[in-house]
Amino acid sequence: MKAILLIALISSYLNLPPNHAQNKKTSLGTVGKSVSVAQGEVARWAGNCLRCSLEKRAWSAVNGTCYYPVDMDMKPGSYTISRRTTGGKLETATLQVMLKACTQEDLKNFPKKEYINVSPQNQARAAKEAAVINPIISYKATVRPAVFDLPIGKPANPLPKGEGNFGACRTFDGQPRDRHTGQDYPVGMGEPALSAGNGRVLLAANHFYSGNSVYIDHGNGLISEYFHLKSYSVKPNQTVTKGQKIGLVGETGRVTGPHLHFGVRWHGACINPGFLLIDPSDIPQVK
Ligand SMILES: [Zn+2]
Repeated sequence: MKAILLIALISSYLNLPPNHAQNKKTSLGTVGKSVSVAQGEVARWAGNCLRCSLEKRAWSAVNGTCYYPVDMDMKPGSYTISRRTTGGKLETATLQVMLKACTQEDLKNFPKKEYINVSPQNQARAAKEAAVINPIISYKATVRPAVFDLPIGKPANPLPKGEGNFGACRTFDGQPRDRHTGQDYPVGMGEPALSAGNGRVLLAANHFYSGNSVYIDHGNGLISEYFHLKSYSVKPNQTVTKGQKIGLVGETGRVTGPHLHFGVRWHGACINPGFLLIDPSDIPQVK
């Protein structure tokens, strides 16, 4: 029974996102454009786009397509999105955000006890590190132009199937902790971790929870994260290219064993990185 549930859970994560896009009748009886995605997913609006906006936030299109990343904690409901085309036309549509219940992951007999009962020193250390990271990953009105296109590159080669634990609500030895912000891939100890795209290293440092960590800015507000590395071979401000080795997979920080944690932030939204690895035409589209 448990195994069946687990398989159902995993397959629900591995399936490509269904295209929820549908036309919607407005109160005026005209057919408005809309797209429907779940928390942690992305919507797109293709064709001659220049600028895109989601409520009060705005950004540039990537190669003529507007992307609307939806944070895993964004409140479900209706939002207004818009796009301005190269012809100067301004269009609006409805973005319907649906609830995606987080899967519960309970890590029992967690081996590294310093992560269960965190000492005041380590709490202070983690707070200091969060104060460095949070400004890096948050939404900014002005960002560098995109130096990537979709799909982004795989963070390891070959890239095994992910654990399906993006956004998981987790407990460590029964104690609840923050949601899981990325996808874990069972890549072996010492295997190369690869930059998902051209970009610039924002941070390469040893942090309490994420261990040896690398953050890369790919422009257009897209930042990729690689955690728990055995070692990293890049430094802040260094320019990297798609597929470049940035370090080795390891088990530093709060982990039970070696794996690659890969995460992305786009315009401040924490999204499932799997959506950037698929053919962009499979991303739910405004219709
Ligand atoms: Zn992880």
